[in-house]
Amino acid sequence: MSIARQEQIRNLTEARLDVLVVGGGINGAGVLRDLALRAQHAGQELRVGLVEQGHFASGTSGKNSQLIHGGLRYLKYLQIHLVREALHERSVLLRIAPQFVQPLKFLLPMYGSTSRLLYGTGLWLYDRLAGSDAIAQHRMISRGEVAGMEPGLRQDGLNAAAIFWDAAVQSARFVVENILDAIAHGACAANYVKATAWQREGPETWRVACEDALTGERFEIHARKLVDARGAWMDGQALRLVRGSHIVIPRVSSGGQAIAHFEPDGRIVFLIPWGSENQLTLVGTTDEDHHASPERVHISAAELEYLAAVVRKLFPERRDLAPVSTFSSLRSLVRAGGSSPTSASRGHKIWNSRDGILHVAGGKYTTYRRMSEEAGDQVCREVAPALAQVHQTEHRPFARVDREIGGAMEQRLSDYLFVSTYLGYERRWDAEALAPLAEALGHKLGWDESRVRQEVDDIIEAAVPVGA
Ligand SMILES: Cc1cc2nc3c(=O)[nH]c(=O)nc-3n(C[C@H](O)[C@H](O)[C@H](O)COP(=O)(O)OP(=O)(O)OC[C@H]3O[C@@H](n4cnc5c(N)ncnc54)[C@H](O)[C@@H]3O)c2cc1C
Repeated sequence: MSIARQEQIRNLTEARLDVLVVGGGINGAGVLRDLALRAQHAGQELRVGLVEQGHFASGTSGKNSQLIHGGLRYLKYLQIHLVREALHERSVLLRIAPQFVQPLKFLLPMYGSTSRLLYGTGLWLYDRLAGSDAIAQHRMISRGEVAGMEPGLRQDGLNAAAIFWDAAVQSARFVVENILDAIAHGACAANYVKATAWQREGPETWRVACEDALTGERFEIHARKLVDARGAWMDGQALRLVRGSHIVIPRVSSGGQAIAHFEPDGRIVFLIPWGSENQLTLVGTTDEDHHASPERVHISAAELEYLAAVVRKLFPERRDLAPVSTFSSLRSLVRAGGSSPTSASRGHKIWNSRDGILHVAGGKYTTYRRMSEEAGDQVCREVAPALAQVHQTEHRPFARVDREIGGAMEQRLSDYLFVSTYLGYERRWDAEALAPLAEALGHKLGWDESRVRQEVDDIIEAAVPVGA
């Protein structure tokens, strides 16, 4: 199998595809892998391809809270079906991708007189909904145990606390892994290829105009069926864009567990041990309606202060809260009435528009496999009916990780810093620190001196000024 980008572009263009997926986040990557595995299992030829305008996972799928979870907070909105489905998917991913998805222990401190009853009931229900998919049942712990576990955590007003389990994922890297596994099973996929326009060329074929974002070259891809997995870039009124931001700060907690904290407004804020040596804490997230372009999404001063205030409230002795880095991305939620961004449904929607394009939208990273299977069913009913019920992904494990192969898809310094690894978020970068990394990657990719300088400058220019 060759994953060289030029070869992938050749495969995408040389003959008509059966299916072209536009968008290389987790949903696009999931649909690609789903279709490739079906065809391979049934021994049927199905030509499937994917184009992504940036690096794979450069959209929301690489800039989220990195959790594979049932969504404890959705119980408040009685989205029981969503929680049950996500808990099941959590157990599937723990089983088929243990190298990317691992159990994560949470401490849930409860302040105020009614919190024990409220959150205790929620956790009890969470365990019941997980059933045999549970990682472990939750347990209540004493104030003394909390103090031993997290000495810096505010004790004042602490009524009770609980330990419960969810899971964590290397979310950007796992998107790349879905792409790689799809390629290994006969699909083709190219990053830095933008689909700029598409139109019908007869009843059986779409002609998709594409642009290579690295060289400016233009070419066409022909496909029988188009799947739109563009996330926040999808046009139309069906979606509501809600921005979520995270800050990365020097480590605040002492234990290895994450902390889940409910704000009075119903939002849940996670403090997750983070970084290559667990030297940092990832704090998020916010929920803000986003009306600007999906291209430039940054944390606002108000979001920054909101997250810092939560940390100050939980760890009052903690002084240094200036973020090392921040990142923001967009939820594309299926529109339903005028609910608040926090209470808006995280359910998904898969539908054929009148022109016959299949759109995959909403949902959660956790449920991507299930959504991809549903999308795969719909696509196959149209282009390969014999494959419509050939479900493979629930039981097919991912191959062991080979960092070198994942890295081979990098085209830019940012791909290494923010997708292959998360080193980019681990410190404040300057040109001096970036230069050796750019030179090493440039050596591999054949960059000249000016390209190396450009890559460094682009990272510095894209960095959001931080400081709480
Ligand atoms: C702040 C935040 C935190 C979250 N945390 C979690 C969590 O912890 N757990 C969880 O389960 N879910 C979480 N979610 C939800 C989850 O991350 C999203 O549901 C999921 O990543 C959406 O994936 P996607 O593939 O639809 O979109 P994206 O990942 O955004 O992918 C769409 C891709 O399409 C590409 N694209 C757009 N236009 C074109 C074009 N013309 N040509 C080619 N490519 C194109 C984009 O570049 C992009 O990469 C979170 C969401 C947010 C915003």
